[in-house]
Amino acid sequence: MFRTGNIPWNKGKIGSCLGEKNGMFGKKHKKDTIEKMRKSKRIETKQKMSVSRREGKYFDERNPAWVGGNIQYWHDKARKLFGKKYCEVCGISNYLSLKVNNKKLEMHNCLNPKNYKQMDAKVWMTVCLACHSILETNGGKTRERTFG
Ligand SMILES: [Zn+2]
Repeated sequence: MFRTGNIPWNKGKIGSCLGEKNGMFGKKHKKDTIEKMRKSKRIETKQKMSVSRREGKYFDERNPAWVGGNIQYWHDKARKLFGKKYCEVCGISNYLSLKVNNKKLEMHNCLNPKNYKQMDAKVWMTVCLACHSILETNGGKTRERTFG
């Protein structure tokens, strides 16, 4: 008789409950992290900082992705060997990247899990800040930890 697709009386109530559960931010970030986030404008910087803070100490030996310890070292080495003067995804030049992002082009390791020690042209890409973020998050899952 009254099946007219009316919204149940308690729908608003359920909705608001779900909304409260959606508190990702409060859960994830500690006070000092938020402070650092406010200071750093770029997500990328935030990720690198949290990586070294959270993972550097505990995962160097145990996590295969972090074998080799000094990731920066391997990135630098890869840059010397395979670094290009432009982003291999969008084509932005190193010069422009510095101007726009205030950051030179980065070396992206295509392997998953990462193996920074593999000095092979086909596993390293030169990318700009923006394309690097996309490459690292486009794997379906959030892979903040393997940023590189
Ligand atoms: Zn790019």
